[in-house]
Amino acid sequence: MSEASPKKMGFRSRLASALKPKAGKKLTKEPPPAYDYEAEVLDSLNQVNKAPPTPVQQKKPINFYNKNTTGVQAQTGELWDEAEMLHSFLRRDSFDSLASLDREHRNNRTAWDESRKRGESMIASLPPGLWEHITSYLTPTDHANLAFSCKTFHSIMGPGVFSALNLPENRQYKCDFLLPMDRLYPDHLLCFPCAVYHRRIQKGQERIKHNHTLNPIFNCPNPKLQSKARITPGWTLPFSLVQLAFRAERYGPEYGIPVESLNKRYKCRSSEWTHQTRYYFHKGHLLLRVVSTCFAEGQLPPSMQRHLLYWREDYTPYFSVCAHWRDGELMNLCKCALSHIPPPRAPITQQLKSGPAIHLALRNPKVFISLCSECRPMRRCPECPTEYLIELKLTEDKNDPDPFNRFKQAIVVTRWSDLGDGRSPESPEWKACIQEESSGFDSFKALSRRGLSGTFEAQSGVTIPGQRMLSLNPANVKEGEEGHNWY
Ligand SMILES: [Zn+2]
Ligand SMILES: [Zn+2]
Ligand SMILES: [Zn+2]
Repeated sequence: MSEASPKKMGFRSRLASALKPKAGKKLTKEPPPAYDYEAEVLDSLNQVNKAPPTPVQQKKPINFYNKNTTGVQAQTGELWDEAEMLHSFLRRDSFDSLASLDREHRNNRTAWDESRKRGESMIASLPPGLWEHITSYLTPTDHANLAFSCKTFHSIMGPGVFSALNLPENRQYKCDFLLPMDRLYPDHLLCFPCAVYHRRIQKGQERIKHNHTLNPIFNCPNPKLQSKARITPGWTLPFSLVQLAFRAERYGPEYGIPVESLNKRYKCRSSEWTHQTRYYFHKGHLLLRVVSTCFAEGQLPPSMQRHLLYWREDYTPYFSVCAHWRDGELMNLCKCALSHIPPPRAPITQQLKSGPAIHLALRNPKVFISLCSECRPMRRCPECPTEYLIELKLTEDKNDPDPFNRFKQAIVVTRWSDLGDGRSPESPEWKACIQEESSGFDSFKALSRRGLSGTFEAQSGVTIPGQRMLSLNPANVKEGEEGHNWY
């Protein structure tokens, strides 16, 4: 074989010469001058039995990436092995055709069918007392699931297992049995107080509405027992809407509503507060953020601060809070933040009207206010997965007729909560958020250091400034409404 007659070269030789690295390149290996494919393969197969290689033999390729090389190859750790590369293109260890695979599959299936028949007859042949003993260890849910699995089990266990689920004390077990059937009922929704699938009466149009608006999702005889989370005065989030958002996410749009349809921006009907709610799925959980804003004047007396913060109807805060807001420091921190707002701007002419004393600082009060070490840090409720941040922001009041006085200080309270996995109102996060009594949830153990706020804001690419995360209730005193700290 000579360089002068390339047309007579065999395929292997041409490939070998094509793969042959150019002289002068230090990092690649030159193949042996008389390159023999078979010899190369045999060589690589016999590698294991060979005596320790001499320095010349060490140049022989072993595999594509050999990290234990020395010399020139050590610069990259890479050895080029043409034989090994050609082999890797082959389909190894298999001479199967699709037909043979299909035949094998059919044989397996017949074997499985046979074993299945044998299994059923075996179940039926066992003494009924034995099954009674086995099922005595099962919960009513698992008992019903077993009876539901095949005809043999159904006839052994009888219809009693299903009627047992209808007992009032077994309501939760019945819900657990029915819940996996969600995928079969796009037009229905499982009602947890009734443990029944009700037909959705406004399919696809279910939305959050003000509490004064009639907004039934299904016709239920127990509407007052439906679980819901308080968002702001007059607005609640029914658990059934959380269910619908999760169903749409898990099974498709026909099964529920898009999570974006829960987002809302509205003004409170009985105060100057405005709210913006946003929901977002993260790792199978529904996260909620409520940003509540209200313009606030500086140097308010305590009675005015309360007027600004509490709803007169039931003395709850105007902004969004979890069920444990009365314990701990939340309200004191809001009052502390309000106390940092400077008094309103007063030009000297205006100051002179009330007396000869002049305060130069009042001519141009500070615009950017920093809060103190008490009210600035992020706070986490120890009893539920909820975090709070209190801020003062210079905000434009578009309704103010005075164009020189449009930018005012506003108190902004942001709440982030994890509302759980939406499977049941008994899920730990949902229960912890809405239930005032302790549910045993320890948010400092359950949540990561990053916190809900960081997780939530990261989805829109926003990094919130690093804040210390403190407990909302550092003293861990639980007095609820009886406490003196909340008003
Ligand atoms: Zn119902
Ligand atoms: Zn403060
Ligand atoms: Zn809480």
